[in-house]
Amino acid sequence: MDFEEILPLTSAQKAYDRRQFIESAGKGLIAATVVGGIAPIASASAESLDSSAENPGPMSAAIKVVGPNQHAASEGERTNYATILPKDKRVGYAIVGLGELTLEAILPGFGSAKNSKVVALVSGDAEKAKNVAMQYDVPQKNIYNYQNFDDIKNNPEIDAVYIVLPNSMHEEFVVRAAKAGKHVLCEKPMTTSSKSAERMIDACKKADKKLMVAYRIQYEPNNKQIKDFARQKKYGKVKVITSTNVQNIGDPKQWRLNKALAGGGSLPDIGLYDINTNRYILGEEPYLVNASIYTTPNDPRFKEVEEMVMFQMYFPSGAVANNTCSYGAHNSKHYRCYADNGGWFGMDPAFDYKGLMPEVGHAEGKAENKMNPKLPEKDQFALEMDHFSECVIENKMPYTPGEEGLQDQKIMEAIYESARTNKPVQLERIEKLDAFRGTMPTEG
Ligand code: NAD
Repeated sequence: MDFEEILPLTSAQKAYDRRQFIESAGKGLIAATVVGGIAPIASASAESLDSSAENPGPMSAAIKVVGPNQHAASEGERTNYATILPKDKRVGYAIVGLGELTLEAILPGFGSAKNSKVVALVSGDAEKAKNVAMQYDVPQKNIYNYQNFDDIKNNPEIDAVYIVLPNSMHEEFVVRAAKAGKHVLCEKPMTTSSKSAERMIDACKKADKKLMVAYRIQYEPNNKQIKDFARQKKYGKVKVITSTNVQNIGDPKQWRLNKALAGGGSLPDIGLYDINTNRYILGEEPYLVNASIYTTPNDPRFKEVEEMVMFQMYFPSGAVANNTCSYGAHNSKHYRCYADNGGWFGMDPAFDYKGLMPEVGHAEGKAENKMNPKLPEKDQFALEMDHFSECVIENKMPYTPGEEGLQDQKIMEAIYESARTNKPVQLERIEKLDAFRGTMPTEG
């Protein structure tokens, strides 16, 4: 074998029925690799290697596919390999809503996914669904609409549902998915109020199904690097974060500008990235917010929802974040963390699907250095879906569970209250780090 070869499944692995595979609690990830005829077993932990050797666990069918490497070690670490699950062992998703995000990013993301596959589509437009199903090899029998959605309970190919609908529709479809016995990945913002978020969490708990909010930034390697700089105090303690997410919105008739469907304007749609990324980087929860809102008078786009929000969040360590979001200015997304011992770090652009650019400024002798320590780009949607799939397969709590989304809903409500009353608003003081996060992602 010249460059790469996939180790065939053992008969024991083949005997593992797919459903049994998804439902059994995992024993860890074992990867069988063949490179140039040698077949070592690589594992995530010695424990998983041992237990799987006796009895192949749910993830034991993972295969490591290795490509050639023509580069000297000095050229940097390469990622010319993938650890993948065979297709019949992957978590099968039904995607609900075939709008911009689904077509532009989520469905293409399955091409890079290692544990996840798309098996069903749910849409109000049968013709569109038929064509999209053809593109992604989804059987026509697995196309549902919003009315017969509950029939997914009878489809064993569907393990999980990914909700990609307007914000105020998330609750209904999360609850119906859980009642149908499926795990649920829900787009951000989780919903339009904290009460609604609580109902979604309760419904999934009652059904004993997992719920994750699709905060892709928390699964993306460059953002993780920035988080590590902050948590490891690479340049000292972070004192100030500034974060901006603005874009110029178009058609006044779209659902994002309809209060009943969106829940709000720029804050829940794009200001949420400022909030959630501040919290992710620091690992802390704000105990106080202070906000103001400005909307251009007579702009036909902003009859129901706000145009821009300027808000500060105060954290227990003493860090303060100063954030802006707007629907009325040219697209720009960036953030910066200012630390107290010789450096700052951040991202510009930040929050995009591709092309993120980390930035670091630090003092070295008399020089002020600026650098861009960029890690190889990975598909954020694939990373996020694969994390959820791994949690389903190994019965783990997702890193961004429903509780993470609920906390953002509470913060947004406090921001709106502060802007309305023109006063700072207190939130519950939470000292614990990563108070609402589950199992750390293994990839990314
Ligand atoms: P979109 O308008 O492009 O698509 C929404 C889909 O919902 C469409 O297929 C539409 O037909 C369907 N729909 C069903 N009922 C509807 C109704 N009453 N009104 C309008 N549409 C209806 O929206 P999108 O940009 O794909 O956003 C969907 C969700 O994904 C939102 O919650 C949004 O916040 C989220 N989102 C997340 C990211 C991210 O980076 N994670 C990016 C964009 C959008």
